[in-house]
Amino acid sequence: MATNPKYQLLFQPISFGPKTMHNRFWQTSHCTGFGSERPGTQAGFRGMKAEGGWAVVCTEFCSIHPETDEYPWHSARLWDGGDVINLGHMCEEVHRHGSLAGVQLWYNGSHSPNLESREVPHGVSGLPSNVFPERNVYDAMSDEDDIQAIINMYVLAAKRAEEAGFDIVEVSGSDTTLPLQFLERRYNRRTDRYGGSLENRARFYIEIMAALKRAVGDRLAVTTRFETDTINGEIRIQHYDEGLKFVELMHREGVCDLWSVKIGDYEEWGEDAGSSRFRPVNWMRPFVSHVKRIVGTKVPVVSNGRFTSPDDMIAALASGQCDIIGAARPSIADPFLPTKIAENRLDDIRECIGCNMCVSRMQQQALLSCTQNATSGEEYRRGWHPEKFARAVNPCSVLVVGAGPAGMECAMVLGKRGYTVHLRDSAPELGGHWRDVVRYPRCAEYGRLISYRQAQLNKLKNVDVHLGIAAMSADDVLDYGADKVVIATGAHWATDGLGAEGHRPITGVDATRADVLTPEQLMAGKPIPGNEAVVLDGDGYLTGVSMAELLAERGKRVTLVTNMNNVAEFSRFTMEMPNNKRMLHERNVKVLTNHWAQSFAPGHLSLFYLYRDSAGLYELEKGHWGRRPGSALIELPCDVLVLVTSRVANRELYAELKRRRAEWKAKEIQAVYRIGDCHAPRHALNAVFDGHRLAREFESPHPQHPLPFIRERQVWGHATYPKLGDPRPKVEVD
Ligand code: ADP
Ligand code: SF4
Repeated sequence: MATNPKYQLLFQPISFGPKTMHNRFWQTSHCTGFGSERPGTQAGFRGMKAEGGWAVVCTEFCSIHPETDEYPWHSARLWDGGDVINLGHMCEEVHRHGSLAGVQLWYNGSHSPNLESREVPHGVSGLPSNVFPERNVYDAMSDEDDIQAIINMYVLAAKRAEEAGFDIVEVSGSDTTLPLQFLERRYNRRTDRYGGSLENRARFYIEIMAALKRAVGDRLAVTTRFETDTINGEIRIQHYDEGLKFVELMHREGVCDLWSVKIGDYEEWGEDAGSSRFRPVNWMRPFVSHVKRIVGTKVPVVSNGRFTSPDDMIAALASGQCDIIGAARPSIADPFLPTKIAENRLDDIRECIGCNMCVSRMQQQALLSCTQNATSGEEYRRGWHPEKFARAVNPCSVLVVGAGPAGMECAMVLGKRGYTVHLRDSAPELGGHWRDVVRYPRCAEYGRLISYRQAQLNKLKNVDVHLGIAAMSADDVLDYGADKVVIATGAHWATDGLGAEGHRPITGVDATRADVLTPEQLMAGKPIPGNEAVVLDGDGYLTGVSMAELLAERGKRVTLVTNMNNVAEFSRFTMEMPNNKRMLHERNVKVLTNHWAQSFAPGHLSLFYLYRDSAGLYELEKGHWGRRPGSALIELPCDVLVLVTSRVANRELYAELKRRRAEWKAKEIQAVYRIGDCHAPRHALNAVFDGHRLAREFESPHPQHPLPFIRERQVWGHATYPKLGDPRPKVEVD
């Protein structure tokens, strides 16, 4: 289908420095955990975006020298010729589809733990890192020779980038990297020509850009990603203060071919990767627009904003906010977003839901994966393509019981592969437990997980969806007439207080009582008695804080009790924790961490502090040594207790079918599998992956068990790169 004329502007080329991109889609630098160490995964992942129409595809942050190393988080690196080879593979893949490859040059100064390289990072003022305060990370204050050496490191890295095949070198002036540390008053305590006035504090950043322009600027585009506001008050960068003034300064010097603009700093880069729970689409608009006004028409500006709708993109371009649509998450959720817009297939777009699970993987020092797109990160290691599905060799009929995230995904992929699928659920709508999640406060965008699959299932003639049926028994399944069966019956919240803390029910807790509710019951409208509400959260993610917010919205006095160190401990990984805390504070929700419930009786909940036992070990009775047990309890008034303690797999249907395995043959059932939360209740991205994986590997010898994937690691006996004794290029000033 031809491109809708109203979206044509998105497909016009644009030039910056010596480069031209073929449309207006720019995959912003974003973390993956693939780095230079997993060249196949890196190239497969980035190349897929180029294939899907992103005209610029960038790496994640790329360390320019062993002096700045953030291991065990994996960055890209351009330290030596080995990195040139590995990242060169990414460049080849990106170029194969006619796109430009960009690399984000990164030196993190004070925030360089250097746990792998063991080198001393240089910085602006010799301060401890506020990002890693518990890790004893300090920088060494740079003298002018050190500063020049660091600039030389940028230049050498840019030359390696050129050798690898990169088209764009983007200096990271974001996430509080060293250029920002020089710029920010709170870090810069210098009294020389690199400290004091804004012009002096900006000098280092501008000198890097100028050095890169001189060294490679006639062949590569030299760009920057800059945060105009750290959103954290006076001593940092504020947009209307030094943020915009710096843009003016640098622009005057003519050393920047293109600006990619963001907000937030390293401590709270969730303001840049704004989650949909806290930031609407295009939340950075005012900040970006002002930069565009300063740099004028000749220097392009990239704006991010979780853009998935072409109408929003066109509005951003047409209003003069920016020239180029930047995206990290929308490009992860759908690498083919530009192509689908170009081909006018808008209902095929797999829109990012803004859940930040992708971010959470990096924050856990793991590899990127995505709730919406099960193939992301699996392009190379499992050979998965998000838009291409191998046709079934012997298509048979498959019954999928349960239409939650796992069942929907499995039915969709089996359908795309040509199987005849019946997807059946006793609920009247698709989505399983996710239907509740979508109705939590702030979670409306999460509905895209269901609506995308619904639209795809509707298009598949070979998939029948039966909703609102009677719950299927083992007899129903055995008599159904399907060749193969997939059980995706999900999980439910524990009704007795069972959780990771103690792994046992809590005395007096029973959700058949009027004053004890599970999240499912609350969402289904079970009345909420009294005023004093307690949420007992052993899950640590979304549901606990959402229940607390819901109860506060309904006028209850709410206390959130958790056994963890923090509220919504997992949201540390999705970068939502600070805003979760602010939200609870705004709603007067009291928080009690490191506590759990001992018992519940009408009107009050007895809590204990997790560390109430003695630190020392004592003889408790003859020959019996241990901690002296504490017995202190805290009594909380509690008219209603909401249990977010743990989820329990709905495993009965699968277990019953297994017990009756002897009957399968007579019923012509070849196999029964289980996927998603009924196997083990985990985050939805795992349920989606599970359903997807089974459907992709449906003909493998043992589909319940995943096929091996390619592991990228050094195999013993093969060459290392560099070898011991290899020289390092000189950066020092004589
Ligand atoms: P997952 O996250 O693994 O996809 P969910 O809990 O979201 O799991 O979804 C499970 C779905 O299975 C729910 O919509 C539920 O109504 C449905 N379901 C569970 N047991 C049966 C059954 N015996 N017959 C039909 N549908 C079922
Ligand atoms: Fe978007 Fe969530 Fe996927 Fe990240 S994990 S790209 S936020 S849908």
